[in-house]
Amino acid sequence: MCMFKLRPHHALCIQFFEGKGYSDEFADHMRRVIDKLGEDTEIKITCENDDICSKCPNLKQGTCVTQDKVSRYDRKVMELCGFYAGQILTSKDFLEEAKREIIDKHRLSEVCGDCAWKCGQ
Ligand code: SF4
Repeated sequence: MCMFKLRPHHALCIQFFEGKGYSDEFADHMRRVIDKLGEDTEIKITCENDDICSKCPNLKQGTCVTQDKVSRYDRKVMELCGFYAGQILTSKDFLEEAKREIIDKHRLSEVCGDCAWKCGQ
């Protein structure tokens, strides 16, 4: 079983992904990551660059160019979902918790209201 490292706020991005992204390479890569996420796939939560960031054009010299913003998103998702850095859980639990605590409770704007993608908002 392969374990993915994912940032907390990517539990939201994954659920709204429609095949678009910061570049074609990034979008293809994100699709591949999502396709590999079976319900029992283990996720390790990280607040640093993750397996989705790895092909992002916004990753410059190992740092996201919107680091302050995405770290704020990560902190809010952790607060609302009870996630913590280093936590290992299944993909199913990772995504369902974000759906239950944020999407279903209409709290997306509270978490990532200033995201350019405006997914689900
Ligand atoms: S914008 Fe930043 S956090 Fe989002 S995928 Fe790209 S590098 Fe990662």
